[in-house]
Amino acid sequence: MSFRRASMRRALALPLALALGVVGVAVAVEGRAPVPAAAGTARPASAPDGVVHFVRTDERLVAFTFDDGPGPATAAVVDRFRAVGGRATFFVLGLQAERYPGLLARIAEAGDEIGNHTYSHTWASRLSAAQLASEIARTDEVVRRATGLSPRLFRFPGFISPPGLVKRVQAMGYTVVGGSVDPRDWTRAATAAGVARHVLDHVFPGAIVVMHDGPDAREATLGALAIALPELRARGYRFVTVSELLREGSP
Ligand SMILES: [Zn+2]
Repeated sequence: MSFRRASMRRALALPLALALGVVGVAVAVEGRAPVPAAAGTARPASAPDGVVHFVRTDERLVAFTFDDGPGPATAAVVDRFRAVGGRATFFVLGLQAERYPGLLARIAEAGDEIGNHTYSHTWASRLSAAQLASEIARTDEVVRRATGLSPRLFRFPGFISPPGLVKRVQAMGYTVVGGSVDPRDWTRAATAAGVARHVLDHVFPGAIVVMHDGPDAREATLGALAIALPELRARGYRFVTVSELLREGSP
């Protein structure tokens, strides 16, 4: 039990720090309503902002997620997960997807999941609700054209998720996804060893790991996966999509 509580504290530290630091008191005060759990289904162990950051489970499951692609590194990320018999989730940008439509098809054919990360990566704090809805619809259309699939997951750019817009996106039928392990692989100082170490030190059953397969080459990210995935598999972890994690998790 103490392990679980410690994990949850770690898991909440990132989204709470981001929420409090970036969008201020509004999130802390207005975002406390828990996400209701339907009987017999997994209960997302969401942070107070209504965003799914991890799931409660005793199974060694972890969902790796990749933002801001597709891009030059996407195919290699897909291959890394094939090599360990797992799946990942890609929160794609419509703008990038238009550049690389073949990669969307490759993600889908591999059984990996595609989520929506807006069209242009404009932060939600700079968008009206109507503009955000338009960004989401435009990206969905690109994904549908390339794969025939409609994303059911959404992640806000920059993790800026104003409570009113979270509700709006949920009302559009999306599960809003955050993350609980953030190795900051996008920073210029990121190294493969450092990113892998962060993931290995912070992962826990039900965690959602935030990484990036775009928009450019992702050497530290790819190097980190080559180190971390075999080690996690040796620890007994299975790599699942976010939707699989939501189905497997339990209260
Ligand atoms: Zn992003």
